[in-house]
Amino acid sequence: MLDLEQRDVKFLTGVGPARAALLAQELEIRTLHDLLYYFPYKYIDRSRIFRICEVDGTMPYIQLKGRILSFEQLGEGRGKRLVAHFSDGTGVADLVWFQGIRYTLDRYRPNVEYVVFGKPSLYNGRVNVSHPEIDLEANLNLSEMGMQPYYNTTEKMKRAGLNSAAMRKLIRNLTDLIVEPLPETLPDWLRDREHLMPLNDALKVIHNPHTPLELRLAQLRLKFDELFYVQLNLARYSSDRQRRFKGFVFSRIGEKFNTFYSHNLPFSLTGAQKRVIKEIRSDMGSGRQMNRLLQGDVGSGKTMVALMSMLIAIDNGYQTCIMAPTEILSEQHYRNMCRYTEGLGIRVELLTGSIRGKRREAILKGLLDGSVDILVSTHAVLEDNVEFHRMGFVVIDEQHRFGVAQRARLWTKSDMPPHVLVMTATPIPRTLAMTLYGDLDVSVIDELPPGRKPIQTEHHYDGNHASVYAFLERELKKGRQAYIVYPLIEESEKIDLKNLEEGYRTVCERFSGYSVSKVHGRMKPAEKDAEMMRFKNAETQILVATTVIEVGVDVPNASIMVIENANRFGLSQLHQLRGRVGRGADQSFCLLVTPYQLSEDTRKRIDIMTATCDGFEIAEADLKLRGPGDLEGTQQSGIAFDLRLANLARDGALIEHVRNIAREIIAADPGLAREENVLMGRVLQRLKKSPFDWSSIS
Ligand code: ADP
Ligand code: MG
Repeated sequence: MLDLEQRDVKFLTGVGPARAALLAQELEIRTLHDLLYYFPYKYIDRSRIFRICEVDGTMPYIQLKGRILSFEQLGEGRGKRLVAHFSDGTGVADLVWFQGIRYTLDRYRPNVEYVVFGKPSLYNGRVNVSHPEIDLEANLNLSEMGMQPYYNTTEKMKRAGLNSAAMRKLIRNLTDLIVEPLPETLPDWLRDREHLMPLNDALKVIHNPHTPLELRLAQLRLKFDELFYVQLNLARYSSDRQRRFKGFVFSRIGEKFNTFYSHNLPFSLTGAQKRVIKEIRSDMGSGRQMNRLLQGDVGSGKTMVALMSMLIAIDNGYQTCIMAPTEILSEQHYRNMCRYTEGLGIRVELLTGSIRGKRREAILKGLLDGSVDILVSTHAVLEDNVEFHRMGFVVIDEQHRFGVAQRARLWTKSDMPPHVLVMTATPIPRTLAMTLYGDLDVSVIDELPPGRKPIQTEHHYDGNHASVYAFLERELKKGRQAYIVYPLIEESEKIDLKNLEEGYRTVCERFSGYSVSKVHGRMKPAEKDAEMMRFKNAETQILVATTVIEVGVDVPNASIMVIENANRFGLSQLHQLRGRVGRGADQSFCLLVTPYQLSEDTRKRIDIMTATCDGFEIAEADLKLRGPGDLEGTQQSGIAFDLRLANLARDGALIEHVRNIAREIIAADPGLAREENVLMGRVLQRLKKSPFDWSSIS
């Protein structure tokens, strides 16, 4: 039987060593299996022939039938091109080549009936098609070309003749080889129940569909495979973990929690905060180890939820830890925790890389003898010499900065793994959460503390700085403070970025009556913190910064955020930055400054930002605009996204559906040992050979 995964693509008819090398290098296609799973990115109806007289420049593509009248070589150097004047009797179109001129001249002849396919444009009133696909009419069977598959290939491949049409031929050669049906990846009972096409058919149809309906069914089947096995893996992993690890049982709500609640709590909790604390409490009392993802928009009050959950652990005799991604943030948490827990008899300590010597030793000792109740830390807590007496609960704040491996190291800190609460910096879309953190339970804070006014967001052009500054001045006069953020500090950048230094000088000149702070990533942590503190203490009124302020810093009196070159930031970054203001009672503002020339994507980002302050809405839009691969967090998460057909932005319903199926299957048969399930166990095993180590997700 033909083993596609073992068979080198080089031996396929039409490939050979040179093309095999290209396929491997450019598309990572090495085996016949890889080639078969290289799916078309679009399908085009090529059964229709247009007449030249009816073509206009707005059509996405056209197909013409006629003859080349003559060739003409024009231009010099880079403008050098070959033009073929092509007629079908209703008009003349120019076919243009800038490359492969010699090859084209050798290959095509005047007065032969050709079918030409390509994207038309109008040039001097004449229809132009550059680098068209050309076939002998006799070679095409137009009536069967209802849905021609198109394959992405790289420039390098095209230069070597491996264009979409060539890929189509190779894949045709491959599917012709497959006479015996390929082995199934889904058991019959599941396929029948879900009305899914057999894998063998789906793979053939996707490369050569006859009708849109058939194509949709094939795509559905293959998407189902992709998504289902991700979910099955997650379901199995979390079920394994639950069986392996018992959780500490925090059964009491004790003195510290209650005292805090009645005396120290500086505001009343929002309904969402209360609900989430309840969810966490019941998790921590269940005997299962908690692994929970806490989603909430910037400013929704996640820190308070973390603190109150920690108090429950402390009341039950355990130590707790909250990890933040930067020193600035951990110091801020430290100050907050100290302030909130005043008078409760709780020992809070801060451990970062820059805390050394005697002080460090004293903290380490306190961790080991159990006298430290709350440790606020950064990555420093992961070091081997940091040991605890009874670590019961870990909070990871702004989690995407921590890699999967780092999270896993928490396990080794105690015999029984602590309960874990992961807090996101900004919301992530549901479908992404289900895929990335599918094994975590999710709590959502979907409500902001009362009295928050939505941040007014405006878009301004570069040339309009005078009005931006005038506005700033008005607000500063009222005693407010402002952030001005620049994309990055990189003198050698060719792109005309507004350099932070230059901006700083301009701002200092323009606002000579005010004090201005400057913070950027190249400063030493101590300098940076000192500058941030000056701003926080209102010793300075304006903070000019790069994105170091992006995450978490809390200055309630700051009510204006100016983002220079906002076009250089992604949506979630813009939203994070904007979240720095709007934390006090005053109306806050966010001014997005960009050049006049904007790409379509940038325009969309700006539009979304000015239209909504809702982080969940923004996260969904971001996913649609960028695709999951680029979203912050997916790289660090370590999950290699190998979704070829499935799309996290569009396939939400399917993801949810397959997730339910996967959970049902694992709940009934955790080891996939039943006869009707063994096939799935085998497929999972095979998929696990991928570079990602599934066992390390926390
Ligand atoms: P984030 O979810 O972004 O981490 P924080 O925990 O930093 O948000 O909270 C943002 C601000 O809101 C803080 O100043 C905090 O004290 C305040 N806050 C939190 N919860 C409430 C509440 N229920 N009522 C009023 N203010 C709150
Ligand atoms: Mg926070």
